[in-house]
Amino acid sequence: MKMLLSYMLCFAYICTLIKKIMRTSFITSKVEIEDIITHCDVCFVGIIEADGTPYVIPMNFGYSNDEIILHSAPEGKHLRLLELNNRVCVTFCSDKKLVYQHPDVACSYSMQAKSVVCKGSVTFIEDLSEKELALNVTMKNYTDRPFKYSKPALANVKVWRVKVDEMTAKSFGQNFKNHRG
Ligand SMILES: Cc1cc2nc3c(=O)[nH]c(=O)nc-3n(C[C@H](O)[C@H](O)[C@H](O)COP(=O)(O)OP(=O)(O)OC[C@H]3O[C@@H](n4cnc5c(N)ncnc54)[C@H](O)[C@@H]3O)c2cc1C
Repeated sequence: MKMLLSYMLCFAYICTLIKKIMRTSFITSKVEIEDIITHCDVCFVGIIEADGTPYVIPMNFGYSNDEIILHSAPEGKHLRLLELNNRVCVTFCSDKKLVYQHPDVACSYSMQAKSVVCKGSVTFIEDLSEKELALNVTMKNYTDRPFKYSKPALANVKVWRVKVDEMTAKSFGQNFKNHRG
């Protein structure tokens, strides 16, 4: 009986320890949040289907001053849905690493990562010079070079601007010592 009790106490202690280590915390610093966003090369854009169900697609993006810039072909399901409802939820995830406290304990495995969830409304940029500026905001996320675009290329691309009105960020498993690789 004593043995069982001490096992139970020991198990409870290990669980508390793992929970403490797996601690998830909110990130409130705007600089840190924007750093997470600009460390990503892909975001996940959640759009609302006509029947209310979610439709989430990966997209490349640019970010500047609380605005997410996206671009697409001039036609597509995403655009048809945005005509019905222009609200979107855009998610970013950076610095992902599989971590664990003990290699043999499944529940001690976790993912070290940082993520940001943004909500906002999509409007489309029509002015060609504004499109060019916005596309260069996107390119800046991938390369330092500025680019010139031909008029037909600018006319053909749909450039989305998401004005972010809600933004939260979380950090996961930052206390882990062991990681894969
Ligand atoms: C890493 C990455 C980055 C991308 N960046 C961009 C970008 O910057 N701009 C852009 O326009 N597109 C980008 N895409 C493609 C994008 O995810 C969509 O596939 C594309 O925009 C077409 O969307 P749509 O709503 O018009 O779908 P449609 O072509 O109309 O799709 C019809 C059906 O195909 C399925 N489908 C659509 N997209 C996907 C997908 N990605 N994966 C699986 N099934 C799908 C859905 O079930 C949908 O109902 C990217 C894809 C990847 C993987």
